[in-house]
Amino acid sequence: MSKDYYNTLGVSRDASPDEIKTAFRKKAHEHHPDKGGDAEKFKEYNEAYQVLGNAEKRKQYDQFGSAFQNGQAGGGGYGGFSGYQNGGGFNVDFEDLSEMFGGFGDIFGFGGGSRESSRRNSRGQDLEFNLPLDFMEAAFGLEKEITFSKKIKCERCEGKGAEPGTKIETCTNCNGSGKISRIQRTILGNIQTQSSCPHCSGEGKIYAHKCSRCNGIGIHQDSVKLKVRVPAGVNNGESIRLSGQGEAGQKGAPAGDLYLRIKVQPHKKFVREGYDIRTEEQISVKQAILGDKIEVNTINGPINLKIPEGTQSGTVFKLKEKGIIKLHSRGVGDQYIKVTVKIPSSLSKKQKNILESLDI
Ligand SMILES: [Zn+2]
Ligand SMILES: [Zn+2]
Repeated sequence: MSKDYYNTLGVSRDASPDEIKTAFRKKAHEHHPDKGGDAEKFKEYNEAYQVLGNAEKRKQYDQFGSAFQNGQAGGGGYGGFSGYQNGGGFNVDFEDLSEMFGGFGDIFGFGGGSRESSRRNSRGQDLEFNLPLDFMEAAFGLEKEITFSKKIKCERCEGKGAEPGTKIETCTNCNGSGKISRIQRTILGNIQTQSSCPHCSGEGKIYAHKCSRCNGIGIHQDSVKLKVRVPAGVNNGESIRLSGQGEAGQKGAPAGDLYLRIKVQPHKKFVREGYDIRTEEQISVKQAILGDKIEVNTINGPINLKIPEGTQSGTVFKLKEKGIIKLHSRGVGDQYIKVTVKIPSSLSKKQKNILESLDI
């Protein structure tokens, strides 16, 4: 019987260390015993990775593969493997595993920050809504009242979950800790695991009667009104974060945050480019040739724009600082006005004669 570690991990013999690592992680995830996988399979993958994942061991394996596979490593000259083969224990690379599963607290449930204990007082969820604004609201900012639905702290039980006036007792199953410890046999050896107490759902307390408003959860869904200050210059796609305005946390845990994603409706006249504004104006042939003053709109109201003599169609005029207040830096954007010359499509005989005589 020979073992082909490359075959076990499903990688080629010239696979890069990254490829080997990725392949192992994938296999380990699929077959992790804690997630209902096959412990024997998991063991094989780990064994293969112990060797192929280590440059030195891999080199030796490549060179002396068969000797190694036949279990001679312990007695032979391949000292590097002896502890591995004959140590009797299963050599798990803790660092890799914890990195892979985001810390052992999560998978084995021990440690103060484990998933089970944190479920007891979970922070409220973040919420995200679209906030539609018209062009001018985004440019100048405003205070807006929004109405939305979220989980709020139950006012009947003040978030405790017990019907007011009824008894709250310490859970006798877990002595109020909310956690149950037990010894679990795993491929890593015996590990003490903690899980949520089933008797009190990890709360450590037993209520004679659950709150009738929130059914003992301490929070419930409700419609809320909130005044939001929208800063001037906010743009499409940006988000406003309102700390602590998301859903209420359970039993005194902090609330989540509220994110308002800005959706700016387009304007008929103004086109926004960052903090600059672009507009277009039409002038007559006469205005283009002789020059004139025309009234143009800015977001702050109409102003006069001087059209110089001999203005070409397509000329862009810049109105300095007539754009939008810069939200993330100092100053104000500009307005750019593109002027096009309107060529008349029909002229009277007299107009034509005059134009002919001008020879322009
Ligand atoms: Zn309640
Ligand atoms: Zn309990």
